[in-house]
Amino acid sequence: MSQERDGFIAPGAVLGVLGGGQLGRMFAQSAQSAGYEVVVLEPQPASPAALVTTRNVASDYDDTDGLHRIARTARAVTIEFENVPAAALQWLDQHVRLAPHAPAVAVCQDRAQEKALFTRLGVACAPHARIDGAATCGAAASLPLFPGILKTSRMGYDGKGQQSVHDAQQLRAAWDALGGVDCVLERRLELDFELSVVLARGADGTTVHFEPQRNVHRDGILFSSTAAAGVIDDALAEQAVRAARGIAKGLGYVGVLCVEFFVTRGGELLANEMAPRPHNSGHHTIDSCDVSQFELQWRCLVGAPLPQPRRHSAALMLNLLGDLWFDAGDAVREPDWASVLALPGAHLHLYGKQQPRRGRKMGHLTFTAPGLREVRETARQACERLGLRLPGADEWPAG
Ligand code: ADP
Ligand code: MG
Repeated sequence: MSQERDGFIAPGAVLGVLGGGQLGRMFAQSAQSAGYEVVVLEPQPASPAALVTTRNVASDYDDTDGLHRIARTARAVTIEFENVPAAALQWLDQHVRLAPHAPAVAVCQDRAQEKALFTRLGVACAPHARIDGAATCGAAASLPLFPGILKTSRMGYDGKGQQSVHDAQQLRAAWDALGGVDCVLERRLELDFELSVVLARGADGTTVHFEPQRNVHRDGILFSSTAAAGVIDDALAEQAVRAARGIAKGLGYVGVLCVEFFVTRGGELLANEMAPRPHNSGHHTIDSCDVSQFELQWRCLVGAPLPQPRRHSAALMLNLLGDLWFDAGDAVREPDWASVLALPGAHLHLYGKQQPRRGRKMGHLTFTAPGLREVRETARQACERLGLRLPGADEWPAG
């Protein structure tokens, strides 16, 4: 087992990733193109990442034998999924080079801890309170948090683990409905829009970032991300980048980190949550930038230099959810890829998932073009061709 912590790991070495989803797949594809081999640890056998890698360990994340195997096989290990049990990450952190480190991931696993960190670092977030029992339900009733959203502190994603709470009377029932686990009650904000910052920080503290992208969610799931001049006001973008870099520094973070923000109708920038890995909103960087978020992930891991990425095209990414695989009669069909591939600057990414399910992320499409107007126009045509609801002026306002 390698105890090596610093220094450059040259191509040819094996890198490990915990989690076999699409993020692990795109990490592997990027690392492989530079000559690294990738081993995936993931309980499901034919995972999207395992389909493109030569080695994999099919075991639970907390299985001692599986952890020993990945630590023995890989020179360095990263994650594509933050909900790996904390004890497994702590063990790996002591036995192999791990980026990000276990304590930073532990903060990202817990909304309450994330918000405490934001607050400690002077980064504003939504008004909120911890809810962990009858007493906290009672105490929250008098706080200005209604209408609110009750969110489980742990394991939530894509809007799952959330309940709308119209008034204080509904709080207890909502908490019971979420299983009585630790939660955070957040005031429901009037949002103008959402944005995110993806950055990478090396072991020596060098930090580079992509400019923020503007994100649209539908039903709690990311629908589109747009990176283009004019899509976010410069001063706001700068404020978000500064906050995200401060968070990475405050955490002593090593690796790729995404921080999601709300912009309220009043123009306030509030941190929402963060992900200790590449993020869905950064997928466009594969096609729009000279260095992608996945390349930065393996560069951080192997101790390679971190160049400031340059975006060479405007980009708009659309998520492809399993809903697209069902016709009006609920029969499974393949979307008409040829019609979207006919559009200029279309880049199709499918994750190799065999079972389409409504709401399941099956792939994404990125459109690149010289400017915002063109990427929006082609993406709009793609929506038409695929049968996606056309974005309204509230989602893609003229910019
Ligand atoms: P997840 O972990 O599921 O991504 P989020 O907290 O990011 O959870 O919530 C998903 C989406 O729901 C957000 O991107 C945003 O569109 C909406 N949302 C979440 N919290 C609030 C809030 N306090 N006010 C308004 N909208 C919110
Ligand atoms: Mg989110």
